Amino acid sequence: MGLTEPNAGSDVASMTTTADKKGDTYVLNGSKIFITNGPIADVAVVYAKTAPEKKHAGISAFIVEKGTPGFASGPNLIKMGVSTSQTSELFFNNCAIPAENLLGIEGEGFNMSLQTVEWDRSALLAPFVGASTYMMNRCVEYARSREQFGRKIGQFQAIKQKIANIRIFGEAARNLAYRIAWCKNQGRPMNHLEAAVAKLFVGDWSLAPANDAVVLFGGYGYCHEYDMERIFRDSRLAPIGGGTSDIQKMIISKLI
Ligand SMILES: Cc1cc2nc3c(=O)[nH]c(=O)nc-3n(C[C@H](O)[C@H](O)[C@H](O)COP(=O)(O)OP(=O)(O)OC[C@H]3O[C@@H](n4cnc5c(N)ncnc54)[C@H](O)[C@@H]3O)c2cc1C
Repeated sequence: MGLTEPNAGSDVASMTTTADKKGDTYVLNGSKIFITNGPIADVAVVYAKTAPEKKHAGISAFIVEKGTPGFASGPNLIKMGVSTSQTSELFFNNCAIPAENLLGIEGEGFNMSLQTVEWDRSALLAPFVGASTYMMNRCVEYARSREQFGRKIGQFQAIKQKIANIRIFGEAARNLAYRIAWCKNQGRPMNHLEAAVAKLFVGDWSLAPANDAVVLFGGYGYCHEYDMERIFRDSRLAPIGGGTSDIQKMIISKLI
């Protein structure tokens, strides 16, 4: 999904990538950044302005295929975490695509992007829920095996509290993820409030349990060999990807 630009992130409508209709083509110019799968995708859905003076209503969505002259992706960006997912810039330099690659009709792009990010927010939750379950299981194992002061560290109240906190976060996050899945199963395709609440919760509340897990493992938690530090780093994407936590709060306050 090619939505975010170097100077247009939360404020999507300020994007400057343009798509000019020329005969039976649209000619794209501009660039996108932080695009998941950018370096490897065969097809991109790219949002561009067909009517720059109209802001939101001037945005349209297009299918752009890899190999189209004038379309290039940048190298994989080195990120803090989620390293298995490749991320890059996309560049459009007089990139002519067939007019039939317009998705829907002109000016519908912004609404389409809202629907796409709702799915993005909903789907983004599952990996973090899975990671929190894994993190808790690893912490329990470690607390039962590691000994200090002649006792298993799991017998110390401070460790018990950390494990309880990790479990509480995991249960709440799982239930919020299930709630969105349930809503979709009920035939409600768009669940902006539920998705924003869940995304915000996972984004902002995952920091403390991920930190607890690193500390529970002591020095080993800080080393690459044990994977608590990786889960900690991965969790920092949750308050940013799919719209930052600040933006989720704006959405929630608008919808209630
Ligand atoms: C790993 C990764 C993968 C991504 N994948 C994709 C992708 O596939 N496709 C895509 O299009 N984008 C993708 N993104 C981009 C992501 O959606 C944006 O990074 C995000 O929306 C924030 O935009 P920004 O980075 O420009 O930050 P900015 O919008 O510049 O925000 C900077 C800071 O200002 C705050 N802020 C901005 N506006 C307000 C406001 N009105 N009120 C209060 N605070 C505000 C923000 O919360 C943030 O703290 C990805 C990002 C990452 C990190």
